[in-house]
Amino acid sequence: MPRYDFRCRSCGATFELRRAMAQANDPAVCPQGHEDTVKLLSAVAVTGGAGGGAPQQAPSGGGGGCCGGGCCG
Ligand SMILES: [Zn+2]
Repeated sequence: MPRYDFRCRSCGATFELRRAMAQANDPAVCPQGHEDTVKLLSAVAVTGGAGGGAPQQAPSGGGGGCCGGGCCG
């Protein structure tokens, strides 16, 4: 069963839960009883994820013209 890390925004505690993937996005309750928690991205690779791989650099442009020499139109 996969393990998920959560962080409590009320007390700042981090904790982990083991739950089925079907409940991965269900709200988790802090061990202290707080309900304001967020799920952290696990370092464990998730198989089948779309768009994996190295982060892509945004294409150049949008910085005041690409060349100013008419190459781009
Ligand atoms: Zn808490």
